[in-house]
Amino acid sequence: KKINFYAGPAILAQEVIEEASKSALSFGDMGLSILEISHRSKEFVSVLEEAEALVRELLNVSDEYGVLFLSGGASSQFYMTAMNLLNEGDKAGYLDTGAWSSKAIKEAKLFGEIEVVASSKDKNYNYIPTGYDIPSDYKYLHLTSNNTIFGTEIFNWPETDVPFVADMSSDIFSRPLDISKFSIIYAGAQKNLGPSGVTLVIVKKDILNKVEKALPTMLKYQTHIDKDSSFNTPPVYPIYVSMLTLRWIKKNGGVAAMEKKNIEKSDLLYNEIDRNSLFEGTAAKEDRSRMNVCFLLKDEALEAEFLKDCAAAGCVGVKGHRSVGGFRASIYNAMPKAGVQTLVDVMKKFEEKNT
Ligand code: PLP
Repeated sequence: KKINFYAGPAILAQEVIEEASKSALSFGDMGLSILEISHRSKEFVSVLEEAEALVRELLNVSDEYGVLFLSGGASSQFYMTAMNLLNEGDKAGYLDTGAWSSKAIKEAKLFGEIEVVASSKDKNYNYIPTGYDIPSDYKYLHLTSNNTIFGTEIFNWPETDVPFVADMSSDIFSRPLDISKFSIIYAGAQKNLGPSGVTLVIVKKDILNKVEKALPTMLKYQTHIDKDSSFNTPPVYPIYVSMLTLRWIKKNGGVAAMEKKNIEKSDLLYNEIDRNSLFEGTAAKEDRSRMNVCFLLKDEALEAEFLKDCAAAGCVGVKGHRSVGGFRASIYNAMPKAGVQTLVDVMKKFEEKNT
């Protein structure tokens, strides 16, 4: 099997894929594929309940929060968050740390007074801004905790009493969190959780139902809290596979153990990028993402050859995003250390060959 460095949809644990494949043929003792069962069946209700319970257990989420599995991707949360929290004239702050933050800002502007507290656009988003003001009248401060495209990650949460709304699409479950700082956390599943098609939303219940405008039923968080994510037909299979991943995270020691492994893996790769005379990292060292490692060849002319060597070693998805260029290795929870070691070995051999 190839070693999957794609940014998303991305690698899943092998045992999750095996179990998901079995259930696609025949689920439990139902005599049906999971793909053809009712979302109202007791078997699926139990999947949904287990998925929610595991999210609560792994991230220490209290009953003050709803845990929802919605459709529409993280992109729908760009507007749904603002729509559910802001009345006309209400202010919210946004930290602009990349393309996904900018998209969130654009959508939120439809619903309130949006202030960009700081931006790292001046340096092609290669760092996380600090030292900006956060006025206390903000309803929330929106953060993108990990910038999938630019390879930066927030490790020091801003000091403020303003609650956070965070897009954690590409680093959820990669490290422990203090949930009490957050009003809403959302994450498209297709990196650290499951296949595409479901979005995890963790939302504080007491911040809801304060907007005056009537909202479409499907776009109100309260609807999905009241109906346990089954107001309409939820994405059954993506939720099931996410539940399997959550079981796998728990079995492997939970998010603290994931963090330890993610530090080891990202250190292994960044150390090679810094040591190897041919390569350089693109992100500011203190903000380097543990999930998406972006790097360049100092001599661009060698790029095609390097990608060929990666492919020959079974490494796929290493080509960088067009807005950064070079290479990006996405090394989510499910990437084994041996996978990262294979890429590091390719880099070492490439240096020997080209110097
Ligand atoms: N936010 C971040 C940080 C992402 O990495 C992505 C997708 O890669 C998105 C949002 C968009 O997610 P979706 O495709 O689920 O709408």
